Amino acid sequence: MTSKGQLPPTPTSANSATSKKVVLVTGGTGLVGSALRYVIENEPVGSPYGRQDHEEWVFLSSKECDLRDIEQTRKVFQKYSPDKVIHLAAKVGGLFANMSSQHTFLRDNLLMNDSVLQISHEVGVSKVVSCLSTCVFPDKVTYPLTEDKIHIGPPHSSNFGYSHAKRLIDVQNHAYHDQFGNQFTSVIPTNVFGPGDNYELHTAHVIPGLIHKCHMAKKNNTAFVVFGSGRPLRQFIYSRDLAKLFLWVLREYKDIDPVILSVAEHDEVTIKEVAEAIVEAMGFTGPVEYDTSKADGQYRKPASNDKLTRLMKESGSADFEFTPFKTALKDSVDWFLANYENGARI
Ligand code: NAP
Ligand code: GDP
Repeated sequence: MTSKGQLPPTPTSANSATSKKVVLVTGGTGLVGSALRYVIENEPVGSPYGRQDHEEWVFLSSKECDLRDIEQTRKVFQKYSPDKVIHLAAKVGGLFANMSSQHTFLRDNLLMNDSVLQISHEVGVSKVVSCLSTCVFPDKVTYPLTEDKIHIGPPHSSNFGYSHAKRLIDVQNHAYHDQFGNQFTSVIPTNVFGPGDNYELHTAHVIPGLIHKCHMAKKNNTAFVVFGSGRPLRQFIYSRDLAKLFLWVLREYKDIDPVILSVAEHDEVTIKEVAEAIVEAMGFTGPVEYDTSKADGQYRKPASNDKLTRLMKESGSADFEFTPFKTALKDSVDWFLANYENGARI
């Protein structure tokens, strides 16, 4: 890829004549979107992670617009005239959901990304921040993962559909920038968890899946079954920490190339440690079993947050602190227990 660094002046926003500038969040009802909404609504107005006086935030759901359809996307963008876009909407799922529907994960994400970027270009959005994932990285690669390694080999086979669609966002961002000067960029979060997650057992990521399973095991007096060997390692990021980092990227980050949003490289946790922390947080006293007939997926994918840390320091945001894993896990368990009976994604 080419063209790094500072960008030329951004195109004029369709909304620039009005006093309020709209920040449109696609996928505003999901795990990350609801965390962003929480942070925007709970941090003081005008503070680094709060709403700025001139901003109006709009959180989109798939019910208002199916972003796979470019005409629906055009209409919703014409309705809100966004100045900036945080593009979170995606077909998202855990290892087992990805393995069972590679084509759907590829096509839905390709269509959504194409609609959002093309219409953002057409209506003159001044900045788009889209979301990749660490599974975009090659399977065979030297660790730690850094931003320059995305395209140097094929991704892990377990989620190749999703990974290729996500990789293409980076290619699209560079193409829009090279040809038209658009300021379209992306971030790469590691595994996210938090309140409002998808706790539905067949499609959930590991933390919400295990919280749900541990709750069922406690309720039914059965074993708590963890899939795989428990040995794989992951870096987890709390959704509300990630939301703050998104706000920093929206306001301070100038590159087209992506930036990894992650805890430090040495903060990897095994799936077994995750299961044990959930057992502790839920007060589960029954047996824990590992079903090794189920896939482990990638063994590890440690990512470096050096670029993030360096740039945050340079922009005067060095005081940012990640929430300790067990505190964030407790928040997620509490949210699950409070919402289990009332129709959360379970
Ligand atoms: P999520 O909880 O599953 O939420 C997905 C969001 O996308 C929802 O708001 C959903 O709207 C919306 N959406 C799905 N299909 C849509 C469509 N056809 N048209 C319009 N909107 C649609 O996902 P998430 O975990 O918040 O993920 C947010 C972003 O982070 C995604 O880009 C994902 O790839 C990335 N990411 C996630 C993780 C993770 O561990 N969760 C890790 C790395 C990166 P409705 O709810 O209204 O249907
Ligand atoms: P990944 O990081 O993209 O692989 O996605 P996941 O969040 O689905 O994490 C998968 C890892 O957690 C693999 O090592 C699985 O074997 C392990 N795992 C253990 N139990 C579960 C479970 O109940 N659901 C999911 N999704 N993964 C589990």
